Amino acid sequence: MRPYVWFLAISIVAVIIVAAAEKKPSSELGPRTSVERSSTTTASDNLIIPVDGITANRLKSDFNDARGGGFRVHHALDILAPRGTPVRAAVAGTIRKLFVSKAGGITIYQFDRDEQKCYYYAHLDRYSDFLREGQKVEQGDIIGYVGTTGNAPANTPHLHFAIMILPPTKEWWKGDPIDPYPLLVKAPVATTHASAPR
Ligand SMILES: [Zn+2]
Repeated sequence: MRPYVWFLAISIVAVIIVAAAEKKPSSELGPRTSVERSSTTTASDNLIIPVDGITANRLKSDFNDARGGGFRVHHALDILAPRGTPVRAAVAGTIRKLFVSKAGGITIYQFDRDEQKCYYYAHLDRYSDFLREGQKVEQGDIIGYVGTTGNAPANTPHLHFAIMILPPTKEWWKGDPIDPYPLLVKAPVATTHASAPR
């Protein structure tokens, strides 16, 4: 009789230990994983409107508008503002490329910190004095000024602002465009943020 009792007792204890060992890691891992995922999403989508003094009600969605005589789609957001209005980094990140093109004029390609998205600023009047490729910028830093360089109409200064999801290979010119409008209508106005470092 006795060996059976001991066997039963040891079996019960073993089952309890195994159950506890299995349960503990899974209950700890679950919440931690979901917290990391949600904070990453918030950080990369938490934009500011990148032109000084522009409120959400001044924005008009034109992502799907035809451009170039109907041969292509806009895939960006035009933000109208007086010439020389400061343009500020929509997110924190790195200035990836300073580029002058026929259509875009004076442009900036900026990566976010995680290099998930590329932010494109075009038709600038000029760059901010400090700006250079590889520069780290904080959200709200002045990076340039609104203008009409490239193919923008001379009497309609505006910032052409685009957001691209980067490919795994991180080429700044190869991203898939997403509409900035729904992300910016809930964003704060860019006047109270830090100015450019000297
Ligand atoms: Zn545009």
